[in-house]
Amino acid sequence: MKVLSKKKRDYYDVLGVSKDSDIKTIKKAFRKLARKYHPDMKPDDPNAEEKFKEAAEAFEVLSDKDKRVTYDRFGHAGLSGTQFRDFSGMGFEDLFSGFGIFGDLFSAFGGGSRARTSWPRAQRGQDVRLNLELSFEEAMRGLKKKIRVPNWAQCPTCHGARVKQGESMKNCKTCQGTGEIRHIQRSAFGQIVNISTCPQCHGEGKSVPRGAECEVCGGLGKVKQFRSVSAEIPAGVDDGMRVVIQGEGRPGELGGPPGDLFIVLSVEPHPFFRRNGADILLEYPIGFIDAILGTKVEVPTIDGKETIIIKPGTESGKIITLRNKGAPYPNSSHKGDMHIGIVVKFPSKLTKSSKKLLKELEKTIDKKYVFEDSEELVKSLSSSK
Ligand SMILES: [Zn+2]
Ligand SMILES: [Zn+2]
Repeated sequence: MKVLSKKKRDYYDVLGVSKDSDIKTIKKAFRKLARKYHPDMKPDDPNAEEKFKEAAEAFEVLSDKDKRVTYDRFGHAGLSGTQFRDFSGMGFEDLFSGFGIFGDLFSAFGGGSRARTSWPRAQRGQDVRLNLELSFEEAMRGLKKKIRVPNWAQCPTCHGARVKQGESMKNCKTCQGTGEIRHIQRSAFGQIVNISTCPQCHGEGKSVPRGAECEVCGGLGKVKQFRSVSAEIPAGVDDGMRVVIQGEGRPGELGGPPGDLFIVLSVEPHPFFRRNGADILLEYPIGFIDAILGTKVEVPTIDGKETIIIKPGTESGKIITLRNKGAPYPNSSHKGDMHIGIVVKFPSKLTKSSKKLLKELEKTIDKKYVFEDSEELVKSLSSSK
């Protein structure tokens, strides 16, 4: 592995100032460099951040009387053993928060009178979540659907100005129009400036005077619109599943990518079919005569009717499984199974003649079907007394 050790450049050269420059000149030079090498200004230049840090380090030394004297006498070596702050591992945000020396400079970068706590960065748009209700059949078959996705757009009447024509925004009273609240702390490390966004105007510095709100957007400057997104819901989806459509969320800011659209599905229950994942369950009632004698019946499945054989002597609770007749696994060619749970039904009322026939029938049947080895059981119960 090759380790490159870079020789540190002279701090005056880094800032491009002469050795007898005053503090004003040094500050000015640093501001210029900081603007120049800001990552948003130079997004394609991988060296920009390095250069920025180099400038920040030079500035920290040359703007501090004691450090500058030491540096002038001994060069970089003179500072190596001191409480020198190493900028190399810091991000830009670190450099600009919490340090008094940089706090003073904030106003220089904001592009106006307003200071900022951090640089604007490209941001990914937010995800959008929507609910979609499907019938059981739609969930089985899948569907293509146009979905209305809410979207905020600039107000067509005030064009984002938020106020009626002839009216204007006023400076926020809470922050006096600066958009932020500053708390200055003195500590052993110098002056620390904590800056927070004004809770009243959310950093804008301005607010809409009462009664001056644009009538169309109510002073928001934006209106809710809907755009249509085609969604493809695959066959076999189940209640609670989500379909993600990438890039259909909110737009990103400052060139960031858009968020995603999450469609949360709720599937209506079916009156007869139940689901257990991709398996479909169906309770199927048959008459007791059919259960005794056996028969063929047609049962509904999600793909149409299927004939199943009820064997003679089928009891309630018997499960008959039809392989691959369940729900499709979403985005797959595989299917679950269909399980048919047999429920044997008996008539609750019998006519006299039916009763008579059943009595006759009973005489013809070997009772062992009720309790096999019943004598054995009775014996074992009495012997255990
Ligand atoms: Zn408006
Ligand atoms: Zn404010």
